[in-house]
Amino acid sequence: MKVTDHITKANGDTLFSFEILPPLKGQDIKSIFDNIDPLMEYKPPFIDVTYHREEYTFKELENGLLKKQVVKKRPGTVGICAAIQNKYQVDAIPHILCGGFTKEDTENFLIDLDFLGIDNVVALRGDAVKSETYFKPERDGHRYASELVSQIQDLNNGKYLDEELQNSSKTDFCVGVAGYPEKHMEAPSLDSDIHFLKKKIKAGADYIVTQMFFDNQKYFEFVEKCRGEGITVPIIPGLKPIATKKQLNLIPHRFKVDLPDDLIMEIVRCKDNKEVRQVGVEWCIQQSEELIKAKVPILHYYSMGRSSNIEAIAKAVF
Ligand code: FAD
Repeated sequence: MKVTDHITKANGDTLFSFEILPPLKGQDIKSIFDNIDPLMEYKPPFIDVTYHREEYTFKELENGLLKKQVVKKRPGTVGICAAIQNKYQVDAIPHILCGGFTKEDTENFLIDLDFLGIDNVVALRGDAVKSETYFKPERDGHRYASELVSQIQDLNNGKYLDEELQNSSKTDFCVGVAGYPEKHMEAPSLDSDIHFLKKKIKAGADYIVTQMFFDNQKYFEFVEKCRGEGITVPIIPGLKPIATKKQLNLIPHRFKVDLPDDLIMEIVRCKDNKEVRQVGVEWCIQQSEELIKAKVPILHYYSMGRSSNIEAIAKAVF
């Protein structure tokens, strides 16, 4: 079922959902199920599965030269989606990227998803590969997520890359895209970022999931600005409980989001990461409760592959 239909069916109640990462190559799917199992009690209508593009590593050879190797550390997004739908009978939502995909790769990927009975995708540009500063599209790929959304809409209208295909079948994907309450790291301003967000909606995106934020005011202001720009689709807040002291620096660095001073001070005072985890859970519960009061359609949690803190939050909130 489409995310937008889940929201309509909920009739104003806030739903619970979360995102998981495929396991590192070499680990089995049990680690994923072990994380999902305790969260199923809170009846997520869907589970997102992230996509991880290839990375370049350099191996030193005996002659001192470096050999460039391409590795995908977390393959398996589609397989995990199929396994989730099969085991739990809930919708699984694969993330799909511009990075590393030609248009032909994208089309074939979408055909697989359609055959598997997947109704939703989250369409993203993806980041630059780790060894590069800027995002580079594939030679015949997409530069921006809005172009990817357009290709998905084309397929929804039965328009394939090969225009000579006759009587081709239409897909019916519901499309989510990313939104950034504190602006995307490359955007010169929040207004320009929202301008391009609107382009993704115009291209056919059905809903927005936000980057994590730790101050609800940022989300409320972002929603207001989007509404002011005529964006009417659901804007689903994404939340992440802080779990380690290291994340105090890592999260602002990696995601370009601010942490409120009160939260920082509480974490600084913690003796160990067990205490940090508790502070992170309590902060996230407060955020969740306020967002539910504000009648957000869904609370979407970034589990980062570990579910015990998300479980504690869901237990308190849902
Ligand atoms: P876009 O919407 O294409 O925007 C990228 C930048 O370009 C923005 O600064 C925007 O303002 C600007 N821009 C857009 N269109 C134009 C234009 N026409 N002209 C000029 N500028 C333009 N990454 C992964 O690798 N895997 C995942 O599974 C994943 N899941 C995510 C889930 C969520 C909810 C979020 C918020 C992010 C996720 N990411 C994921 C990270 C995401 O790929 C990065 O943040 C990426 O840098 C931007 O992706 P986007 O889809 O927002 O890009």
